[in-house]
Amino acid sequence: MLIYDFDQKTLTDLVNRWEEPAYRAKQIWQGLYQHLYSTPEQFTNLPKPLRDRLAESLDFTPLKPKLFLDSSDQMTRKTLFELNDGEVIESVLMRYGDPADSHDTSGKDSRSRRTLCISTQAGCAMGCVFCATGQMGFNRHLTSGEIVAQVMYYAQMLKEENLSVTNIVFMGMGEPFHNYDNMMAAIDRLNDADGFNFGARRMTISTVGLAPQIKRFADEHRQVNLAISLHAADDAERVAIMPVNKRYKIGDVMEACKYYVEKTHRRVTFEWALINGVNDSPEVAKKLASKLRGLLCHVNAIPLNPTTGYSGEATSRERANLFKETLEQAGIPCTIRMRRGIDIAAGCGQLAGSIE
Ligand code: SAH
Ligand code: SF4
Repeated sequence: MLIYDFDQKTLTDLVNRWEEPAYRAKQIWQGLYQHLYSTPEQFTNLPKPLRDRLAESLDFTPLKPKLFLDSSDQMTRKTLFELNDGEVIESVLMRYGDPADSHDTSGKDSRSRRTLCISTQAGCAMGCVFCATGQMGFNRHLTSGEIVAQVMYYAQMLKEENLSVTNIVFMGMGEPFHNYDNMMAAIDRLNDADGFNFGARRMTISTVGLAPQIKRFADEHRQVNLAISLHAADDAERVAIMPVNKRYKIGDVMEACKYYVEKTHRRVTFEWALINGVNDSPEVAKKLASKLRGLLCHVNAIPLNPTTGYSGEATSRERANLFKETLEQAGIPCTIRMRRGIDIAAGCGQLAGSIE
């Protein structure tokens, strides 16, 4: 079994079954999530026989890094991992700002950030036509430990530079709300105050808009940020690029979002990949604004990233700005996001886990 699949309770149970004192479980937990140990040998505070037993019975390296690619500006790194059953996933580290300028080596300076984009499934069942992960189809859910392990991989790497992860977005391969239980278990593990202690407010889940799960998430009152991939303001237009809209229509998604805002008083982000001539006109922006009016929200628009299976093209900068201005005149805040890691296919929707 994978060590990162345990929570504190199940790890304590295991340590009990091994007839070791309970505080050993705490030491293992702290070693993993505070000291960021990656191999049993590093747990030098444990007796050797226990270290050996850990090494024999548990898997510490569920992700085999097969390949990494750095963007030409060195600010984005994509890593391709092979899982134990041969499935392949990708995760991305994005650096913003320069910690060398900030007279601060703790990695906490607000001018510099290190954001991880983490996968939750191998492939995706939602089939959005513009997304490389959707184009490859669904292979399987990741376990909570496989989700956590991606974070630990980068946290261990950054620690060598005296830096830490500042933000986590669950926007890699897969639909997080299709793998709901494992997703939340992973969040709880990363958030655990005795362990990695990563603030929920610095995590963001992005969903294609599974309405029942949005409501369930609202009921759980988590501090994690929520983003919804909308991309169209009209059902017929959305169905053409996002098959999930047959099941959950824009109205269903909006109703779930209203519920979420009422329950949590938290702002929802709507993601919008701007596709030239498809969803980037001022008319579309007005229609979108009419759907969002009155909702505590914000639109994140990003010019479409190219993928091999879709012929749509990115909106020009001018049209992107016009889209933003039209939305803002109608009272809906909008940011145009910078495209990151396009030269290494690490941008949104470009992750497909292939070793070509
Ligand atoms: N399945 C989730 C999270 C992963 S996708 C979701 O769909 O929200 C992360 C984001 O990238 C989503 O907003 C998705 O719509 C967007 N995206 C997918 N393909 C894209 C592309 N080719 N260009 C720009 N954004 C894309
Ligand atoms: Fe899946 Fe998200 Fe890609 Fe759609 S955009 S296919 S939901 S990963």
